[in-house]
Amino acid sequence: MTQPSLRVLSLIPPMTQLNTPYPSTAYLTGFLRSRGISAVQEDLALALVLKIFTPAGLAAVRSRALAQPEARRSGSVHAFLDQFGAYRSSIGPAIAYLQGRDATLAHRMAARGLLPEGPRFAALDAYDNVDMGDGGGDPLAWAFGALGVQDKARHLCTLYLNDLADVLRDAVDARFEFVRYAESLASSQPSFDPLAQALAAPPTLVDELLHELTLAALHRHQPALVLLSVPFPGSVYAALRIAQTIKAHNPNIRIALGGGFVNTELRELSDPRVFHFVDYVTLDAGERPVLSLIEHLRGERGRQRLQRTFVREDSPHPSPLPEGEGATANAGTVRYINFVEPDIPFEDVGTPTWDGLPLDRYLSLLDLLNPMHRLWSDGRWNKLTVAHGCYWKKCSFCDVSLDYIGRFEAATASTLADRIEKIVNETGQTGFHFVDEAAPPKALKALAQELIRRELQISWWGNIRFEKTFTPELAELLAQSGCIAISGGLEVASDRLLHLMKKGVSVEQVARVTKGFSDAGILVHAYLMYGFPTQTLQDTVDALEYVRQLFEAGCIQSGFFHRFSCTVHSPVGMDPAAYGIELIALPPVSFAKNDIGFIDPTGVDHDALGSGLRKAIYNYMHGLCVQDEVRRWFEHLPQPVPRPSVKRGKIAKALAQRG
Ligand code: SF4
Repeated sequence: MTQPSLRVLSLIPPMTQLNTPYPSTAYLTGFLRSRGISAVQEDLALALVLKIFTPAGLAAVRSRALAQPEARRSGSVHAFLDQFGAYRSSIGPAIAYLQGRDATLAHRMAARGLLPEGPRFAALDAYDNVDMGDGGGDPLAWAFGALGVQDKARHLCTLYLNDLADVLRDAVDARFEFVRYAESLASSQPSFDPLAQALAAPPTLVDELLHELTLAALHRHQPALVLLSVPFPGSVYAALRIAQTIKAHNPNIRIALGGGFVNTELRELSDPRVFHFVDYVTLDAGERPVLSLIEHLRGERGRQRLQRTFVREDSPHPSPLPEGEGATANAGTVRYINFVEPDIPFEDVGTPTWDGLPLDRYLSLLDLLNPMHRLWSDGRWNKLTVAHGCYWKKCSFCDVSLDYIGRFEAATASTLADRIEKIVNETGQTGFHFVDEAAPPKALKALAQELIRRELQISWWGNIRFEKTFTPELAELLAQSGCIAISGGLEVASDRLLHLMKKGVSVEQVARVTKGFSDAGILVHAYLMYGFPTQTLQDTVDALEYVRQLFEAGCIQSGFFHRFSCTVHSPVGMDPAAYGIELIALPPVSFAKNDIGFIDPTGVDHDALGSGLRKAIYNYMHGLCVQDEVRRWFEHLPQPVPRPSVKRGKIAKALAQRG
């Protein structure tokens, strides 16, 4: 097949975040255009949400809800049906408000007179104990005061949308959530069976709407190649539904699947049924494989010269299955082709472009009332990376053996500042989220100096490692260049475990670095972990005491506890004995492979501890209970919980000693 003017459509499948586009299609589209290729993009995740949350969409939801037997309806569904008229008339204004198109609505929303209130508003009762002055009976007064009308309205609007998402889940499609859709069908699923069965099932309302949106995108763009970017397991099912629609509509359109989920979990793909939906599955950084694929489709390159690409051997362009019949046939074998050619250097990947994405239609949400945490859901951030991969690449829980971590390449400060200028000119927006796994301090310093030299006024935030190179002076420089927030891993706040996980930092060092950022006016978020191999109950209590002290000392303002999971690509997964654990053998894998179970001889019930840790951090983030003894969070445990072995005031003392 020769197609010199081959047009490429990159799609973001549902679900991903709603406040800003997931950046993969912007990177690929920018790169392909820099090579003279006709490339366009669409965000079907946002489009789907905007289609559901309309008066017509809610009417369709209502009819599904009414079809449920009354006894089976959840509290959310009852509240929705009881107040349907109010939902139908308020959905348009609410969406317009969250898109930043109708700010004056805030007054009515904040006064709680416009939006119907479902079970999610019960969360406001939790703030009854927060005493921050006279709120005149307003449970949110401590957070927003008398003048924070816009933020208060945004928070109430977010609760309102969350209620509606619950209705969708309970009445339309049990797999629906705002940031993921049918995640469990793909995540670490050794077999394609669950997805194949779900894709063969009659479509839900959500699937039907996605089908319509896919057809509309095909009509608009007439692509010859569609790139489906699946960053997470929660976007795989929808990506394959999109592929199903495309193949039924026009089997000549070629489809390639790639992205973070594929790079991490599909490295041992051998189930040919996946190729009923897509023609190619590419691994790791997309630029090189996609460029070669396009050359191949144009007839300029043989198939055997593709890079990091899975194909089905005996039937590379299979006939589509009619929708609803599913992929049950098991014909063909999967072949991995990797004709080795150098990757496109990070310096040469071009500038991402958001052209074609409806930047004024994204929804700024305010879920948790924490100034740092809101950055993830509120605001349209241009997402950019300072480098490719991680310069440290040693942490033993991390996928350091994979390209997205292990291949480190930087670009010059001048190239980065050029990209930033170009993006500001294109989007008109000056907020940047640097989405590196850990942006290198040297590169950030050089970039900050370049931004200041060019008098380029932007706001930015990003991920780092809390290493000692980030001195208070560097933090000050970064703040001057526009840095407003930083996130990084403290993981398990225990020097023994930080050493075992090769994080290369100590708790006191993290305290000093984070305090430097906070003193420079930069918000700090800590990624926290529990359940690491050999972690004892005492370790967990001590780690929480350290975290408490970091909040108390004003080092961090926000945090999140993740449960450690062992992945096959991490040093722990590759050498479990070195971490004192034994892996549980996986079943035969023909589809996804990532998480792997393990036996830790300490036998600690980390799940039981996790609920206490999450409650503690939730309270600390709201400025509550920071002085309380940490054992209060574990009162639900059947066994006695030891006192922390970390002295109170230890972090404050260490900070005082720094000079
Ligand atoms: S956890 Fe972060 S710092 Fe550590 S290797 Fe992975 S990306 Fe790098």
